[in-house]
Amino acid sequence: MVNKLFLLYFKTFELYDRYFKKLKPIMWQKKPIHYLEGEDKFTFEKALFLKYLGSYKSAIVFIWDDLCPKNGKNSILDNGGISSSNLKYLDSLNKRFPFMKSTLFSIPNVSFEGCGYYSSDWISNNKFDIRNVEYEFWIKKISSKQFQKNNEISLHGLHHFQKEKKYWPQMEYEFKTKDKCLNSIMEGKSIFKEININVTGFCPPVFGIGYNSNFGLIEALKECNFDYVCLGTKNSGVNLFNKNVSCVYPSYYQSLLNMPQNLSLTLSFEDLKKNIDDIVKLNGLIVIKGHFVQNWRLGDGWNDEIYKKIVKVIEYLENKYFNKVKYVTFGDIGKWYKKQ
Ligand SMILES: [Zn+2]
Repeated sequence: MVNKLFLLYFKTFELYDRYFKKLKPIMWQKKPIHYLEGEDKFTFEKALFLKYLGSYKSAIVFIWDDLCPKNGKNSILDNGGISSSNLKYLDSLNKRFPFMKSTLFSIPNVSFEGCGYYSSDWISNNKFDIRNVEYEFWIKKISSKQFQKNNEISLHGLHHFQKEKKYWPQMEYEFKTKDKCLNSIMEGKSIFKEININVTGFCPPVFGIGYNSNFGLIEALKECNFDYVCLGTKNSGVNLFNKNVSCVYPSYYQSLLNMPQNLSLTLSFEDLKKNIDDIVKLNGLIVIKGHFVQNWRLGDGWNDEIYKKIVKVIEYLENKYFNKVKYVTFGDIGKWYKKQ
């Protein structure tokens, strides 16, 4: 009951802005389209990716959202913040399959505590700033050569939170001007640099790319010199209204190299297999996405079941496509494209 009242309170602000302040709808117009719809126009992108693949037929990357120091002991959420937290699943997979690679979208100073869409609480005391001394051991781990062999740390906002509006709290960049976006991204980058991690890619939280701020984020990104960015799924971000970027090949959006998004760990193993076959046929990039948080409403957070699903996926790839599918991070691809 209290939750419902809370939600109604925030929803009121959203509805008011929608009707009286021309708030652009970006959450409630999601079309049920298939990610392969409209892919045939990306012939140049396919040719370039084939060049990247060389003797391989396809490539695969696992992507994980929201790595930060929350660990279930210092927060109600477990975002992989210590070795015994959800990070243990990834560690175990890396040990079992030393060739597996992941890109981890990480937040250097996450500022929300709750996980509800409208009820996220703002934490202003830098409790989860990765430079805090209590995270030293964890930082040593994620910046170690061993860990980096399998995993790339990529930037996923500075706070993963915005204070400009009372709704859409996790869309950090949706309402920010270009300068504010630039400051936030630069700060995020430099925090990682302080702990010797050089981030070369960026994905905005919840794909809020600035429909309500003249695309300040896109303009800022043009000055950030990232090797790659991730600007949307089949029906969000830059693909919200039209298909602007491919969902199976790296493609350019206003001079920014965009990495595609296609599969989710919410899919059953049978569906994953079928989609993997489809993407291999197209010589595309298989991107399998999950979250660090367990029981997240999206249903793709780490748990025993998700772990087993990934084991089955990798075993399937090894049996059917041995030496035909290349294991990569987004960073590996971005580096190659930059040199072209
Ligand atoms: Zn996120």
